[in-house]
Amino acid sequence: MITLDDCRQFFTQEVRLAAAVRSPAVVDAFARVPREKFLGSGPWRIALGDVGAGATYLMTDDADPRQIYHNVSVALDPTRDLISGQPGTLARWIDELEIHPGDRVFHLGCGVGYFTAILAEVTGASGQVVAVEVDADLAAHARENLAAYPNVAVHDGDGAALDPGACDAMLINAGVTHPLPAWLDRLRESGRMVVPLTVGMGKTLGKGVVAKITRQGACFSARTITFVVIYSCASVRDSQLAPTLGKAMATGALMKMQSVRRDVHAPDGTCIVHSAGVCLSLNASHNYSK
Ligand SMILES: [Zn+2]
Repeated sequence: MITLDDCRQFFTQEVRLAAAVRSPAVVDAFARVPREKFLGSGPWRIALGDVGAGATYLMTDDADPRQIYHNVSVALDPTRDLISGQPGTLARWIDELEIHPGDRVFHLGCGVGYFTAILAEVTGASGQVVAVEVDADLAAHARENLAAYPNVAVHDGDGAALDPGACDAMLINAGVTHPLPAWLDRLRESGRMVVPLTVGMGKTLGKGVVAKITRQGACFSARTITFVVIYSCASVRDSQLAPTLGKAMATGALMKMQSVRRDVHAPDGTCIVHSAGVCLSLNASHNYSK
């Protein structure tokens, strides 16, 4: 009989290889966090893909937690198409955050808190995770699930309205049209943000790319990591930017993004998605003054 611990160890290696995780601390975190504590009691519905909309679900045979130690999404509430995403997907994003022990991390869209726990393990007891979830029910579950982590604070409400304080890393776990200027302001020197830039696909979903933004002095370098379908963050969606963003995805220009410009400038051929204060740019980097 394969023990639960054996399953967790195999799962950890599965996630490491599926997501090409470089950080040993991220790998160790997946080995330590008991996924079943966050997903509610089984049996569980395994979901295809990273979002629940219209997904086919497969019910596990029983409530044995060994069944959820795979690189699969698990439904939280099929009636609302809510799922806890594929560990390999989030592992890649978390690895890109290059979290060091003691870092302060912002997690917008924490769901039931499983990946918040991963972040909390990676930053450690000397670090902090500020998590926020717009769905009050999910936030309540996250707060309960993360009670054992004194280094985590869970807020409910609109994440765009929450000031997370000065952060070393930010995981924006929902689709937006642009990085919020307030988030960029709160990125510390060398701070990293992973943010999905998406165009709407139905009422609650969006598709697009995941970008990594790194603060370098007064500049914000940026590059795209991967493609994504994800729930939208309704309050950080600019309907005027969305068509340009969609076009930049279709032409592939968005994948060539090099920086987020914040300096005042007239739009030119290097602007992929231009707006006052936040411009996704083909230029390598730009100073800005505030
Ligand atoms: Zn511009």
